[in-house]
Amino acid sequence: MGEAVVLDGRKVAESVRQRLTQRIAARREAGARVPGLVVIRVGDDPASEVYVNNKRRAAAAVGMAAREIHLAADTPEAEVVATVQALNQDPAVDGILVQLPLPAGISSEAVLEVLDPAKDADGLTADNLGRLAAGKPRLVPCTPRGILELLDQYAIPLRGRRAVVVGRSRLVGMPMALLLVQRDATVTIVHSRTPDAQAIAREADVLVVAAGRRGLVGPEWVKPGAAVVDVGIHRTAEGIEGDVDFAAVRTCAGWLTPVPGGVGPLTVAMLLANTWTAYAAREGLAASEAAI
Ligand code: NAD
Repeated sequence: MGEAVVLDGRKVAESVRQRLTQRIAARREAGARVPGLVVIRVGDDPASEVYVNNKRRAAAAVGMAAREIHLAADTPEAEVVATVQALNQDPAVDGILVQLPLPAGISSEAVLEVLDPAKDADGLTADNLGRLAAGKPRLVPCTPRGILELLDQYAIPLRGRRAVVVGRSRLVGMPMALLLVQRDATVTIVHSRTPDAQAIAREADVLVVAAGRRGLVGPEWVKPGAAVVDVGIHRTAEGIEGDVDFAAVRTCAGWLTPVPGGVGPLTVAMLLANTWTAYAAREGLAASEAAI
């Protein structure tokens, strides 16, 4: 058997950013305001600082007005909540993102509870997840939205196919499963309490792995020829690795995402796409102008 096609997340993310750049430039030339994104970071988690800088730079690069609000780790929850509420009211702000995890003592639930769903750039509020479950998606979590974009760009068939999602998180696994169902795949979620997840995964034509367990998935999890999407991010002495054993799975999968360079770049691109979607809705743009 040949080697899997490696899905190039950087390339697909670049094409999303180019489309956004054109859309935003057209708005600016028409004299309209540009989309605004605010990222709130609380405390000094070093990984969060890197992520937030990447997001802010990526937003500025496509022509958005992007800024960060950095609050000290000991900021009271009420002040974080009040910051979000003030941004909800700010007409220049279309997308608000609260970088997780928050320091101990600040509940992400409490913060998401007050976030205006129309500005929820991460698609994590109960309102947006409920809309997704109801088949009326508005703002969809960035990582699953990016994975769907990647599968579509490589014309990987979903309708009528067996899809297995490893992981059931609010951020990735659960919304991924909902999106795949809506694309007419037959979807199974496996998680940490599933007996013999490997045997179930092996039935999948499309396998999305978001377990947060380095190297969990080897070829014994993969149906020959399947599309395998690796969401995991693990910083190791050798660099960034995923949940999938890339070298081994490459010899049996039909398609495979690398780590890094697969899902990660798309997650950031989709944050921008969500901010654009929120902006387009708030500005009342026609569907043809809003589409990305
Ligand atoms: P999480 O810890 O919230 O959820 C992990 C899920 O995996 C849980 O539902 C758990 O039940 C399941 N699980 C754990 N061990 C398992 C096992 N052995 N077999 C089957 N299921 C198992 O994590 P998350 O937020 O969904 O993130 C998952 C991974 O993806 C992490 O490595 C995270 O860093 C990464 N991530 C990457 C991106 C990206 O842009 N590439 C975005 C978000 C998260």
